[in-house]
Amino acid sequence: MARNLLGFDARALTDFFCEIGEKSFRSRQLLRWIHQSGTPDFEQMTDLSRALRAKLADCAAVEIPHRVSASEAPDGTRKWLLSVGDGNAIETVFMPEVNRGTLCVSSQVGCALECAFCATGRQGFNRNLTTAEIIGQLWWATRTLSLEPDAARLGRDNEPDGARLGRGNVERPVSNVVMMGMGEPLTNFDNVVRAMRIMLDDNAYGLSRRKVTLSTAGIVPAIDRLREECPVALAVSLHAPNDALRDELVPINKKYPLRQLLAACQRYVDPLLGDDIPDVKWERKGAPRDFVTFEYIMLDNVNDSVQQARELVALTRDVPGKFNLIPFNSFSDSGFQRSPARRVRAFQEVLINAGLVATVRRTRGDDIDGACGQLAGRVRDGAAGGPIAIPKVAKG
Ligand code: SF4
Repeated sequence: MARNLLGFDARALTDFFCEIGEKSFRSRQLLRWIHQSGTPDFEQMTDLSRALRAKLADCAAVEIPHRVSASEAPDGTRKWLLSVGDGNAIETVFMPEVNRGTLCVSSQVGCALECAFCATGRQGFNRNLTTAEIIGQLWWATRTLSLEPDAARLGRDNEPDGARLGRGNVERPVSNVVMMGMGEPLTNFDNVVRAMRIMLDDNAYGLSRRKVTLSTAGIVPAIDRLREECPVALAVSLHAPNDALRDELVPINKKYPLRQLLAACQRYVDPLLGDDIPDVKWERKGAPRDFVTFEYIMLDNVNDSVQQARELVALTRDVPGKFNLIPFNSFSDSGFQRSPARRVRAFQEVLINAGLVATVRRTRGDDIDGACGQLAGRVRDGAAGGPIAIPKVAKG
């Protein structure tokens, strides 16, 4: 079976070329063709000899996930649904802002962690995405946005607040990646790390480690491993100020309770850890940011009281962190309501008055099934507005 080189990082490509009797520098050429030029066709890789192109076509391929649908909200948020076979689909969301374009990338089909407020969690777990399916989302978004006429990408004048939204940068439409889509990335560790290495590689997307953020519900041993193997910016889905409530909202908390999770966060941002190891590789030089982003979804009358905000301040006082308060994106039968703005403000004030940085995330893409997993859920079971048919097509 032809190997899909889309998911090969520099190391894997080097091994691959050695295996087929070619020089290792070919890996750099391939990365540039696939990820920078967006060329999946070996025949168009004109600085490879005709013989090598034929050899590659014989034993390998570059297979891109197939697009099922695309939608765009009035605020410029784009959501693509990509087919990953067997009737399954994943979501990739692009959020344009004035000076950057952020892509939210999925790591699994469904999710096993069953967070109470999450549309993806309700679907259950199907399978891990391969490295190719993860990096394929960035390939797809970069390619699609790069091909759009500049006029359509420069901004909009009809925003509700009059703000002019940018579409990122013309050269690099996706400037930031957040591993925050469907699935828990740290339970698909190897594939996610390989995909992030491609994101960081100068011969591929060349993103800085500060601009790639991995968001986890709190898989403690894997947080330590991430720091060792591919430290990027870390976000942790906290959502509750104590174990009793977090056990309900984020059930993985029963396995890795808050005390363990916060200790792992501290280790992650500790600049001294690893410095005493001679000849450390760049991967061992610690986290690219000196804080963890704590995400906190605001659920009306569940976790949003002033008293709970005070509890949160006390809980996290020893960990350098910034808070991102997230308005809940409702979906059918979720059983939760979005906190009213006044409760969110009161909660935020407690954090700010305690000297913490606390921002409220702007709601994005409400008109295009904004809650993570909503759109893909419609593919599988017809939830939230009727099923979407996935045409039966070969990948590529
Ligand atoms: S919030 Fe994240 S970890 Fe929790 S069920 Fe949803 S996708 Fe999984």
